[in-house]
Amino acid sequence: MKMADQSPIWHPFTQHGLGDAMPLIARGEGARLYDADGNSWIDAISSWWVTTHGHAHPRIMAAIREQSERLDQLIFAGWTHEPAETLAAELIRITPDPLTRVFFSDSGSTSVEVALKMALGYWFNIGEPRHRILVLEHSYHGDTIGTMSVGERGVYNRAWQPLLFDVDTIPFPHEGLEQATLDALEAACAQKPAAFIVEPLILGAGGMLIYPAWVLAEMRAICARHNVLFIVDEVMTGWGRTGTRFACDQAGVIPDIVCLSKGLTGGSLPLAVTLCIEPIFAAHYSSDRAKTFYHSSSYTANPIACAAAAANLEIWRDEPVQQRIDALADAQAAHLSLLSHDPRVANPRRLGTIAAFDMVVPDSGYLSNLAPRLIAFYRDKGVLLRPLGNTVYVMPPYCIAPDELAQVWNAIGASLAMINDDS
Ligand SMILES: *Cc1c(COP(=O)(O)O)cnc(C)c1O
Repeated sequence: MKMADQSPIWHPFTQHGLGDAMPLIARGEGARLYDADGNSWIDAISSWWVTTHGHAHPRIMAAIREQSERLDQLIFAGWTHEPAETLAAELIRITPDPLTRVFFSDSGSTSVEVALKMALGYWFNIGEPRHRILVLEHSYHGDTIGTMSVGERGVYNRAWQPLLFDVDTIPFPHEGLEQATLDALEAACAQKPAAFIVEPLILGAGGMLIYPAWVLAEMRAICARHNVLFIVDEVMTGWGRTGTRFACDQAGVIPDIVCLSKGLTGGSLPLAVTLCIEPIFAAHYSSDRAKTFYHSSSYTANPIACAAAAANLEIWRDEPVQQRIDALADAQAAHLSLLSHDPRVANPRRLGTIAAFDMVVPDSGYLSNLAPRLIAFYRDKGVLLRPLGNTVYVMPPYCIAPDELAQVWNAIGASLAMINDDS
């Protein structure tokens, strides 16, 4: 296996002090990653939830090539370009009618920052300043200071807690406790917060925690009744992961603001959008410059990334993407059910193409280094998986072949024996 060593790179979410081996990847195609020696791994987590149609999809690669020969980058304040216009028009066409405006940025975190700034900007500009944000317990919205503030507090952000702003946290709607969540939201909404932000139907980094569509619909209705802006973070759930193009589709929910990134370019280039309803834009529309939405990043609406995203939307339009998603969802269900009666498997759960379960471990000491050991185990079996603590999940690109998916689940089955061998 080709390894990177003597590198100056400081990797994300990586404890270099533990010296874990790091494969040096040279090429990706479909659901597979290859090193220069020809070893390959099945990318069973879509390279951290971004790759939807597979690595190096020919149509997206062609769009990137063609756009790169025309226009690479353009200042987006006061200027515009064709790929952004095409993409924005198409996004407005495929999302519910009340969403009328598209703001570009370059990552999931920035799309959430933009959503929060839009919400506060709205209340400020209409002359009723509000700044409390409601969040759902166990949420993850990114790693910038603002997005950490609206996410779960813990070991991942302890060093920065003094800088994080206060939020009001609504309990997660665990099975049987949904009404408590809705009651808490109702009470919190009465305090006139600016907005409520949620991951729809499934909390990703929080541990693949699933809650029903009717709860999402009720949460939306409560916010509407109290005139609290409803922000939906579809950064992970968007683009088919949950079985429908957007998770909100399953609940018939139309948010006031929605954040999209990850699969927006099919997972090929960094790009994000924050879509909002007309009144939010209208609150910033004025002959008074002070009401401008003061937010930008250098690469806002980068033309090459926009062309990649436009190609992704063409793939959704022209290829049987929904059929692939349905087939993958069925296959995931079948594999999961084969393991679900194993005493070492708890809480098997699935939403669309995402399957997860919790590994039953002997004690908390065992749990503390379980994930890194599992990652190494799977890597040696030719599979890229990255459990969240003891939560093992599979979230592959939709092009994964049945035998590749079987190899992933075989590796997972074999990893269960690892627990017995040690204890
Ligand atoms: C990944 C993720 C983000 C952050 O996206 P980045 O592109 O990593 O900044 C935000 N929200 C959710 C739900 C995510 O899964």
